[in-house]
Amino acid sequence: MPPSPPGRTSASRPMTARPGFRRFAHALNVGRGGFGTPIADRAWRDLRACLLGWGAGTPADAPIASVLASLWLGRSALPPRLGLRAWGFRALVREHFPGFPKSAALPRPIAVAPCRLGQTGVAEEIQDLERLLLSGRATAAPATRRLAKLLAVGCMGYGHMWKDMGFASRAELRSLLTAAAPKVVRRNTRDMRWKKFLYRELCKSEAGYVCRAPSCDACVGYAECFGAEV
Ligand code: SF4
Repeated sequence: MPPSPPGRTSASRPMTARPGFRRFAHALNVGRGGFGTPIADRAWRDLRACLLGWGAGTPADAPIASVLASLWLGRSALPPRLGLRAWGFRALVREHFPGFPKSAALPRPIAVAPCRLGQTGVAEEIQDLERLLLSGRATAAPATRRLAKLLAVGCMGYGHMWKDMGFASRAELRSLLTAAAPKVVRRNTRDMRWKKFLYRELCKSEAGYVCRAPSCDACVGYAECFGAEV
């Protein structure tokens, strides 16, 4: 790092002028410009790494860093604030990345993959999923409510949940689900696809979601529920 000019220490430099934030802003520009290229993939990793550098050190930081990097680089099927209110979205970022410069505006997301949000009945469906996840949370902290909402909204994409939400891997989805609703996660003993599993749980709770067969082993949809998510 170059020496600070006389009379001005690096500590007095605005956060947005510091190398960590400049790297973040650069990754954002490059990732948006080179959509779908290896350069954009590298920018996605850089953006995620910058966020983690400002992280709180919780197990949910890494999956949320992936979700945000994907959201801000147009690789997500989630809505602009992940389905949260403006203050809830800011709280999520502050809570997991307390080092993110307070003076910096949060990046605006760019065009995202289509999802089912806005369709008839979807708002109720999200509420049902949210209720299910909240029923399995370990603590009543407001943060788990935000995670439950984010994950419920994440079920509204048309593809695999972990890809639609912009995680680095399916394991990251599991880790965020575990942070939000560990008791629900423990019930997925056969490693069923997560979105299918959550709807199966709703089916069992008689919330009006009906499975195709009384038992998974006898069901023609078995591969859709248990197949690899690639
Ligand atoms: S395999 Fe069939 S019964 Fe089992 S969760 Fe899937 S749709 Fe429902």
